[in-house]
Amino acid sequence: MRIVLVGPPGAGKGTQAERLAERLDVPHISTGDLFRANLSQQTPLGVEAKRYMDAGDLVPDSVTVEMVRTRLADDDALKGFLLDGFPRTISQAESLGGLLADRGEELDAVVELQVPEDELVGRLLARGRSDDTEDVIRRRQQVYRDETAPLLAFYREKLVSIDAVGSVEQITDRVTDVLRAR
Ligand code: ADP
Repeated sequence: MRIVLVGPPGAGKGTQAERLAERLDVPHISTGDLFRANLSQQTPLGVEAKRYMDAGDLVPDSVTVEMVRTRLADDDALKGFLLDGFPRTISQAESLGGLLADRGEELDAVVELQVPEDELVGRLLARGRSDDTEDVIRRRQQVYRDETAPLLAFYREKLVSIDAVGSVEQITDRVTDVLRAR
């Protein structure tokens, strides 16, 4: 299974991605986690990414796409993957399409986690990550609306939209039920 998970900041992508990857037996590949791992090791890529992340802006596509390309080349991603936080722009989606086409592969589904906007800010403030201040959260949400939401139309044929309000368990079940039915 090759799956992309999309949803606004605070929709619970990280939590669901972790659980879904385990159920589907594929690696969970989170660009946010990859950037944070680079940052904690002070790699040049991590240092470069930090100023964008701190502002709630997207890290430039060239950096992000190359990082994903390298990760997808690892052996464990040959059997499939669950991408979390990538692609986040149409341009990244086109790059991903190209990477997969080179391998003779394509995505099986794009799963959208839907949560009403007024619920999102509260969830993120409760999480308390260093980029979870109110201003940066608002900026990330604006970036989501402007840059990422257009992916939903781009992927309409593969799109599976899930109501992501409920218990963690319920939401994982909803996603796996729909994926299984496809
Ligand atoms: P959230 O889902 O709460 O927005 P993430 O951990 O997915 O958090 O991302 C945190 C930050 O990492 C983003 O605000 C952005 O700066 C950077 N980032 C993550 N994925 C991408 C991507 N695909 N393209 C560009 N920047 C990204």
